[in-house]
Parts: sequence; structure tokens; C-alpha cells
Amino acid sequence: MFERLTEGISNAVRGVGGKSADAAREEFVGTVRDRLLDSDVHPDVTSRLVDRLQRRLSAPDQDTSAAPSARFMDGLREEMIGILGGQPEPLRLKSSGTSAIMLVGLQGTGKTTTVGKLARHLAGQGKSVMLVPLDVRRPAAIDQLRILGESLDVPVWGTTAQSKPVKEARAAIKAADKQGIDVVLLDTAGRLAIDRELMDEIATLRDKVRPQEILYVLDAMAGQSAVQTAEAFAETVKPTGIVLTKVDADPRGGAVLSVGARTGIPVKYMGVGEKHADLEPFDPQRIVNRLLDMGDIESLTEKFDAAVSAEEAEALGERMMSGKFSLEDFGRQLELMGSMGPLENILGMIPGGKGLAKQMRDLSLAETEIKRTLAIIRSMTPKERRNPRLIGNSHKKRISAGSGTSVGDVNRVLKRYKTMQKLMKQLSKSPMRALQGLMGGGGGFPGMGGGGGLPPGFPGGR
Ligand code: GDP
Ligand code: MG
Repeated sequence: MFERLTEGISNAVRGVGGKSADAAREEFVGTVRDRLLDSDVHPDVTSRLVDRLQRRLSAPDQDTSAAPSARFMDGLREEMIGILGGQPEPLRLKSSGTSAIMLVGLQGTGKTTTVGKLARHLAGQGKSVMLVPLDVRRPAAIDQLRILGESLDVPVWGTTAQSKPVKEARAAIKAADKQGIDVVLLDTAGRLAIDRELMDEIATLRDKVRPQEILYVLDAMAGQSAVQTAEAFAETVKPTGIVLTKVDADPRGGAVLSVGARTGIPVKYMGVGEKHADLEPFDPQRIVNRLLDMGDIESLTEKFDAAVSAEEAEALGERMMSGKFSLEDFGRQLELMGSMGPLENILGMIPGGKGLAKQMRDLSLAETEIKRTLAIIRSMTPKERRNPRLIGNSHKKRISAGSGTSVGDVNRVLKRYKTMQKLMKQLSKSPMRALQGLMGGGGGFPGMGGGGGLPPGFPGGR
């Protein structure tokens, strides 16, 4: 997702070099504006963001010790986070008794799919859930939800076709309360377009059932027309939150960036695929990090968690971020990468990695490099791994012989490790500086042409 916007902004930063501060800023801000509009971000939202960015970057108290591109990107990052609402907005459920979450929206936007995703998400938090079909005019919709419930192993209310939605919803909530169920998910009927009847039905449900949350489900692929429908819904139905679906299929991100700011309603979740697990809480900071390709360290940590025990991951993460990063850690990290699925996904989460991933057409080559690097690290003694400064020429010969490599290979691994260690240290202090370190002092972001190749510290890098 957001590939186009990310690419555009990377280019904007690349254009900054070799100009006076004012000219560079004007060009950066202008390019950001163009790219946001290209990405189908609402014009009002774009000008709001660009005005704030302009003001911030031309403020007199600029930290001139940071390179312009770093300041520009930090400024853009802050303003984008602000436009997206700053903080994640959790669901507001009752602390005891049964809470009701009603999902509303046009047909085909992903209401029923989202009901399934939310059921799984809530169950993962230890909550018991019941699904309630309220599309009483379509027996097929009732069946669809029953099958969904079976696959998730959660109860589904036995709504009768042609019954009244309010009556069914109330009866379901009452029964759920009796059974001690924490949350009921109400799957309402959609329409092909907004009409009076739909709005009335939703308003009646809202007033008579009084759900804790009314989530408006919106298809991100519809771009600005999605934002328009959202504005209409926001006025009449007054949802408590928005779920943006099909974000995985939207390379532009216009709706993602505009809808919250346009409606004043917080986006609470994003649908990023068709499977039950493809739901993410909407976290502005994470989204912007990912968008600006600054590395989604938290997601990376989560993947670590899945691959290794939480403790080991935490310890490794801490060592990585503190710069106390031994060759053992380096090797372990490479091993983890191997077990964390396609390297490309991981690269998308490390600083500058998105550009790299593109260049890594021959993934298998990188994997051979990883194997060679691991062989070299394994041929070292534990003492050498902990203190690489001890490794002299005779040691290098032994290590290369033991791993079936050359002394040059050993030197390259040691050099990558050192750069990686330095990078981790910088990363813990200032992500933007670390990025510049990756650029090796030259212009351009890593992997964005110019510099080319992999950054130091990575297999296949220099
Ligand atoms: P409803 O009419 O609003 O209940 O929509 P459905 O839940 O039946 O979904 C309509 C279609 O959108 C289905 O084919 C879903 O698989 C698909 N869909 C829903 N959410 C997502 C998503 O986040 N990503 C993608 N790629 N497809 C989705
Ligand atoms: Mg449906």
C-alpha cells in the first residue's frame, strides 16, 4: 500500500540536495503537495497539511545541525501523524455487561468480512463474541454470517428472514447478556448507494438499540468518492469510528490520509486483506513510519516475537537499539530473518528497506549471502564473536578455512557487522541520521538510484 506516495516523497527528498535552504524547502513542500494530490488525498486536507509543513519548516528556530532532508522528513512525519489523528483510537466498550458494535456502510465494502475479523480480534483479547445478521431481506446474507461464525467457532444469532432488524438486535443483545457474552457484532444491510431508506434504517437501529460503537465500513479503493460517502454518513448516522477496508489493494492511500480529517471521525481499524487475520488497529504513527519508509520497528519486533520467544526478542531488540550489538547478535538476527518468511517483507520494515526490496530481484542470491555470513560467524570462537577486535590475520585465515570462504569474505562480514552496529546506535538516537548514514554521505535515499545497491550491514551490501 501507499507505494506511489512513498516513491513520490522519496523523490522529493532526493531533489533537495545542492540548493539554497529556501529553494530546497520550496521545492520539497511543492513536491509533497503534488504527490499528495496525485495520491488522491483530498485537496483541503492536502492544503492543510502543506500549510502547516511550510510554517513549521520556515520557523526561525530550526535545528541547523541536522541536514535539511532530515529536518524536512521529520517535519513531514509529524504533520502527517497529526492529520491522521495523532493517537490510535481504541474501541469504547462497556467495562461490564454486553457491548454492541454495529457495522454500517454500502454493499460490498467489507462489512461482513470485517465482522469476522473483529470477532477474531476481540476473541484474541479474551472477549466472548456473538454475531448478529441484520440484513433480514437477504436470506443469503444470514447464511453467509452463519457459515462465518462456524469457521470462527463463535455463536451466530438465529435471525429469521423478513423479521424486523430492531427486534432481532434487541433480542440478540438480551440473550447475549444472559449468556455473559462480552460483545455482539451487528452486521447491517448495505445498499448500492446512499438512499433515504438505508439512512432511516440505520438511524432507527442506532436510536432503539443504542450500540456502544457504530463503525462505518469504507472501501479505501474508492478514493475520493469514498470520502464523499463518508461525509454523508458522518452527518446523518454519526458513526463513532471508521474501518477502512481494502487498504492492501489501494496503492495511493488518498482515502487513508483524508477520511479522518474530512469527517472528524476517527479511523479505528484498517482491513489489509481478505483473511480473518488481515485487520490492523489504525495507528497514525506506525502508518506514517511505514509510509515514509522509516522502518516500522514495532512491527519488526512483533515478527521477532512470533519467530523467537518474547524474551529473546526483547533482549535482542534492546541490544540492537543500544548499540551493544555483538557478532552473535548479528548472526542471530540473520537467522531470524531467514525464519521470518520472505526477506522482502522484513526489508519493508527497516529504515530505507522499501527501496532496497525493489532492487533485490535476485532474492536467492541474498540468501546465499546470508548462509555464507552465518557460516563465517559460526566458524569463530565464542570469544571472537563477543569481541571481534581480537580477530587478527591468523584468526581470519582459520575462520575462512573453517567456513569455506576467503579472508576477503571474512573482512567483509566484519565490516558489515561494524556498520550495522553503528547504524543501530544511531537508530536509537535519531532515525533520520541513521538514514543519512545509510546514504553514505552522498545524495539520495538508499535504494533510490544514485547510491544503488544494498546498504552496509546487509548481506550483499558494501
Ligand atoms: P459487505 O457487503 O459490506 O458485507 O462486504 P463483504 O464483507 O461481503 O466483502 C465484499 C468483498 O470485499 C469480499 O470479496 C471480501 O473478500 C472483500 N474484502 C473485504 N475486506 C477486504 C480487505 O480488507 N482487503 C481486500 N483485499 N478485500 C476485502
Ligand atoms: Mg455483508
